[in-house]
Amino acid sequence: MLCIHNSLTGRKEPFKPMRDNQVRMYVCGMTVYDHIHLGHARMLTVFDLVQRYLRARGFDVTYVRNVTDIDDKIIQRAAQNGEDWAALARRFTDSMHEDCARLGLAPPDHEPRATAYIPAIVAMTRTLIDKGYAYVAEDGDVLYAVRKFADYGRLSGKRLEDLRAGARVEVDEGKRDPLDFVLWKHAKPGEPSWPSPWGPGRPGWHIECSAMSVSLLGDHFDLHGGGMDLKFPHHENEIAQSCAACGTPFVNVWMHNGFVRVDDEKMSKSLGNFFTVRDVLSTLRDPEVLRFFLLSSHYRGPINYSAAQLAQADETLLGLYRALADTPGGGTADPVAMEPLTAAMDDDFNTPEAFAVLQAEARALNAAKATGDGASAAARAATLRAMGRVLGLLQADPAEYLKRGVGAGLADADIERLAAERRAARTARRFKDADRIRDELAAAGVILEDKPDGSTAWRRA
Ligand SMILES: [Zn+2]
Repeated sequence: MLCIHNSLTGRKEPFKPMRDNQVRMYVCGMTVYDHIHLGHARMLTVFDLVQRYLRARGFDVTYVRNVTDIDDKIIQRAAQNGEDWAALARRFTDSMHEDCARLGLAPPDHEPRATAYIPAIVAMTRTLIDKGYAYVAEDGDVLYAVRKFADYGRLSGKRLEDLRAGARVEVDEGKRDPLDFVLWKHAKPGEPSWPSPWGPGRPGWHIECSAMSVSLLGDHFDLHGGGMDLKFPHHENEIAQSCAACGTPFVNVWMHNGFVRVDDEKMSKSLGNFFTVRDVLSTLRDPEVLRFFLLSSHYRGPINYSAAQLAQADETLLGLYRALADTPGGGTADPVAMEPLTAAMDDDFNTPEAFAVLQAEARALNAAKATGDGASAAARAATLRAMGRVLGLLQADPAEYLKRGVGAGLADADIERLAAERRAARTARRFKDADRIRDELAAAGVILEDKPDGSTAWRRA
């Protein structure tokens, strides 16, 4: 039975969808004003893994991940660039899609954009005003009255009095309570706006997730995810909005992933240890190394990014592909051997444990290959592949994967040419020449492997 840690209760709980085996799942996506960074990549990869595993477990999943395509940050960045805000949002949505595809992330079933849901956002805001949970402030903003929602603070475990004591009092904003948050922002001159009963404006960030999730998944659904930094206030505010507007519970299970730290420090632009996904991918043998690294720690804990950790992930993944290389085909995955993987993943998506299972299977596969047990090797290889599929890993052709190098160096065509020259030299018994070429390739980080059938395979070290 799959158990998931629920942030709402602080406990691991058996997971049971509300409707048969249908899982309705919403994850807070990107605000598209820049390229995505490592922290985003972790969140996106973690919830890709969650939806992937739920499907592997036989659930019928509807996965919704939104795009925030209107926001103060987008407007500011567009003004700085002298770029149209909508064009900027499109550009960085495309950038995010490219990075997601390279990380092996499946597209969500629905990817709603905030600007496409303005009528639903306006309707929910109006309902909140009608029910007495929201008010129009003097400056024309519509604000949510936090004190009207009795359960406020339940998700983040915060008490209203403590929050209020820590909040800055911003009198000019026309808030009745420092904790009240904006649902609808009145437009200042020159800002993008949409018509509303309260004048031209744009949605606040929190209301878009409530309106879009309820529109696509219903008033009350199974699972909601996001980064830990969104627990308060974003998710707390989503709960306050949706529960008050719909009069039902909102979400049964809340999942939050931990932070990415860099060299044991918080990642930030001011510390100069800030990495976009494309920066990191440009240094790697294959984007799969980053996916492997991001999943190597349990999703709820912090993960520490460093060159050494990444090199370790690269080495471990290479080892798994080496095990898969040169194995006989035609095997079928052994369901009994798969059980430890399922047990690990059923335990709140315990990927460190799942990775240990992969490694054990690779060791067994290597042992079968060493003893020349072809049937066992074929079955082990199929099992390892099937395990990888559950995690979105190990699906590349091993021979191709092992040829990929890091950074510059010899091109594949040059290596092929040198390997052919060396073969020709050997055939002509010019062993000195053959050895020279082998050394030359070794110096360039290419390892040759002579096969019993006279052919030569190569890989990058
Ligand atoms: Zn959200």
